Amino acid sequence: MPGRHFLQIPGPTNVPDRVLRAMDMPTIDHRGPEFKTLAESVLTRIREVFGTTNPVVIYPASGTGAWEAALVNTMSPGDRVLMYETGHFATLWKRLAERLGLTPEFLTGDWRSGVDAAAIEARLTEDKGHEIKAVCVVHNETSTGCTSRIDEVRAAIDRADHPALLLVDTISSLGSIEYKHDEWGVDVTVGGSQKGLMLPPGLSFNAVSNKAIEASKSARLPRSFWSWDEMLEANEKSVFPFTPATNLLYGLDEALTMLSEEGLDNVYARHARHSEATRAAVTHWGGNGSVEVLCENPRHHSGSLTAVLLPEGYNADDYRKVVLENFNMSLGNGLSKLTGRVFRIGHLGDFNDLMLMGTLSGVEMGFELAGIPYRKGGAQAAMEVLATAAKATD
Ligand SMILES: *Cc1c(COP(=O)(O)O)cnc(C)c1O
Repeated sequence: MPGRHFLQIPGPTNVPDRVLRAMDMPTIDHRGPEFKTLAESVLTRIREVFGTTNPVVIYPASGTGAWEAALVNTMSPGDRVLMYETGHFATLWKRLAERLGLTPEFLTGDWRSGVDAAAIEARLTEDKGHEIKAVCVVHNETSTGCTSRIDEVRAAIDRADHPALLLVDTISSLGSIEYKHDEWGVDVTVGGSQKGLMLPPGLSFNAVSNKAIEASKSARLPRSFWSWDEMLEANEKSVFPFTPATNLLYGLDEALTMLSEEGLDNVYARHARHSEATRAAVTHWGGNGSVEVLCENPRHHSGSLTAVLLPEGYNADDYRKVVLENFNMSLGNGLSKLTGRVFRIGHLGDFNDLMLMGTLSGVEMGFELAGIPYRKGGAQAAMEVLATAAKATD
């Protein structure tokens, strides 16, 4: 098909041409002087995106690797960790913890809202003996489009006066939704390259607090590749203990430049605007009781994606196939218990108003072709949100 493919899944996201060009470089000696300049730049500048002045560890791995790293560096065999079932990704992280020999406690969620901080506070308050060693939450649950309030989770831990570490997955929020590692007292923040950071898959991150580094000194889970100690020591001299993903780091350097040129606050506002316009479209389409936004709590609406629930009796994967075949657009599928029930619109990363309108037009035309009941004019409703926002900043 002529023209560009619309990659509107919530990650991997569209990689901007500037980032592609920045990576189109000969691979260099990762122990030479040129590499040191690159490493120093990314290791310093990545901190701002996490909202930290502490080190950020960069792994040549997908996000799952950084999940594992967060746990093996801070926990010991059998440790109890409190996790929250926001959706598919929280469930995968919990399974990973079990496989590592930890003892996760999983607070039940309904997959239609983010974390209920009061439930975390109640459980921690009960834990008088401080057996729970970490609280693990997913900031932006990519399977549901619900974003949890990490500031509220922090406040809950503080009110319970509990010493547990706070571990947060920001793989689909970093660089899209406001995040403050230091201010929110997060101990390990897990990130990935292929979502808000606009890079191809292949890099992941651990932002680490001093308390997390301290905990890593006595943590006894076996680790080698993921171990922070050698990495942090090498990074101080702008080198890596093993071969880094050099060309992805060139891309990261360019992506960080793009984020700082736009300004992080503007980046967050752009994502919030696209999310609001998308919800205006979905709400309009569903006006006659058809499709709806999966996330039910307005305080948890995600800035980076919107999951759309189809009416009973319609299959979201059949619908996505119609959209792909007719309009060359990929929409995200429903995951685990949401399979066939929802599709997900990614509106994160390198994205603008007209790309969103192309996306929403494709979604609306897809409803028509797939025979899904909807009320015409959702794309128009989104245009009104975008035009009003543009007028306000004129
Ligand atoms: C994508 C994603 C992951 C998994 O990351 P991989 O890079 O696929 O390993 C984990 N958590 C969240 C919230 C995600 O969006």
